[in-house]
Amino acid sequence: MAIIIDGKKIAQDIRMEIRDKALELKAKTEIVPGLAVILVGEDPASKIYVGRKEDACKDAGFVSREYRLPADVYESELTDIIGDLNLDNGIHGILVQLPLPGHINPDTIIEAIDPRKDVDGFHPYNIGRLFYGNPYHRACTPMGILELLDRSGVEIEGKEAVIVGRSNIVGKPLALMLLARHATVTVCHTRTKNLAEVTGRAELLISAAGRPEMITGDMVRDGAVVIDVGMNRLGSGKLVGDVAFHEVSEIASYITPVPGGVGPMTIAMLLKNTLNAAHLIATQGCNCSPQR
Ligand code: NDP
Repeated sequence: MAIIIDGKKIAQDIRMEIRDKALELKAKTEIVPGLAVILVGEDPASKIYVGRKEDACKDAGFVSREYRLPADVYESELTDIIGDLNLDNGIHGILVQLPLPGHINPDTIIEAIDPRKDVDGFHPYNIGRLFYGNPYHRACTPMGILELLDRSGVEIEGKEAVIVGRSNIVGKPLALMLLARHATVTVCHTRTKNLAEVTGRAELLISAAGRPEMITGDMVRDGAVVIDVGMNRLGSGKLVGDVAFHEVSEIASYITPVPGGVGPMTIAMLLKNTLNAAHLIATQGCNCSPQR
């Protein structure tokens, strides 16, 4: 029977550590980390996520500034707000909640954010630095997965890691982070042939496909560490992951539940990136963009 990795507890511990570090930073420099969160439109799930991020900021003693814009806002209005926040000394992190309405190009918006304040780690500058093995801000969900593994005492180096999903926010950055930690990495997607055969080789299996309970017991190697990123709302309203939890927990050595696994870590890592941004700006003594 697998050990269940308690992401809620680990995330709470990290949030307490961040609060203490934020207090230290304030005592030394008078800088209080500040996060600006921008929400466009009325998407109910986005509203919930934004609310949680703001609460987490307040709990950590950060300044939290919120911008709620109508769904028909012009792209240029959004880039103007981001431009002002880039120059705002009280704001160290800028987060634009995705998805955006169809008339706004998310790439334009992400690229408008000063990479030093891109605490989501989605800016091409930050992705590029991750690619070169010299990361600045890293994407929060994959970063949270590494923290979960490290704090659970799971070795990464030399492991056969299989990721299901190749999105820009989870699968691809996670592959780079695991490579940097010396895992042997395979990334699967909808065109992967014999998925079960590939996942069956994994000592470390991470699913981020967004397909309810698609990873069944017969797809998992005995003793594998299984990390479930998926968050899938069933017709009944129940939230389930990509992994058939009961079946797979009989085979795996470690497993994350949904909810209470990876989800809480994403917000904890957002706070960590914001604290780092404030710390870097404090120690480097300027708020300017890195050279592009
Ligand atoms: P995307 O839809 O952007 O990407 C899904 C990926 O999974 C794609 O690469 C897709 O392949 C692949 N995929 C889908 N179905 C299959 C399948 N049957 N077999 C193999 N590969 C498949 O999703 P995201 O990366 O944004 O999110 C993935 C899941 O993680 C969602 O449930 C989301 O809610 C959750 N999530 C959770 C977070 C958290 O904090 N816990 C944060 C972010 C996401 P292809 O490229 O070929 O289409």
